[in-house]
Amino acid sequence: MKLLFIGPPGAGKGTQADLVSERLDVPHISTGEMFREHVSRGTELGEKVGKIMAAGEYVPDEITVKMLEERISRPDAVNGFILDGFPRTPGQVSSLDHVIGEDGLDKVVVFKVDQDELIERMLARGRADDTAETIRNRFNIYVEQTQPLLDIYDERGLTVEVNGLGEVDEVTERILRATNAIGVQGDTYDGS
Ligand code: AMP
Repeated sequence: MKLLFIGPPGAGKGTQADLVSERLDVPHISTGEMFREHVSRGTELGEKVGKIMAAGEYVPDEITVKMLEERISRPDAVNGFILDGFPRTPGQVSSLDHVIGEDGLDKVVVFKVDQDELIERMLARGRADDTAETIRNRFNIYVEQTQPLLDIYDERGLTVEVNGLGEVDEVTERILRATNAIGVQGDTYDGS
């Protein structure tokens, strides 16, 4: 199962990607998480991207794509993965197409969440890049750069919309239903 989760910052993609990846037994690949790890380990890459992230800007495609390609080529990603936060630009879509093919993804899950709710959620999680100003900036960048990706994946017939509001487990079930993932692969066999 190769899934991509798309939605505005704060929509709960990361939480859901964690849960769905457990249910389907495929890795959760988050470029944001990978960048945060570099920053906290103080690597050369971390030094480079720390300021960009703190400002709510996108890391240049060249850097992001290289890191993603390395991650996706590891053996644990052979049977599937959940991409969370990549691709985020049309250039990154082309790069992903190059690696897994234009028909490589099974579904693209689009998270729908009310804007006021989003801002509340983001302020509540208290991440370093979650100040009122960067939140606004990240929204604008999402609308400008990432929302156009929905058209690309719509044209391929891959998008399914999921209401991101509600209990965490409820949202997980919605995603599994919308992607037809239940019982397809990696789902728990109950012996019956
Ligand atoms: P996230 O955890 O997905 O919200 O990502 C946190 C931050 O990492 C973003 O605000 C960007 O600065 C950077 N980032 C993560 N993924 C990407 C990407 N695919 N392209 C560019 N920047 C990214």
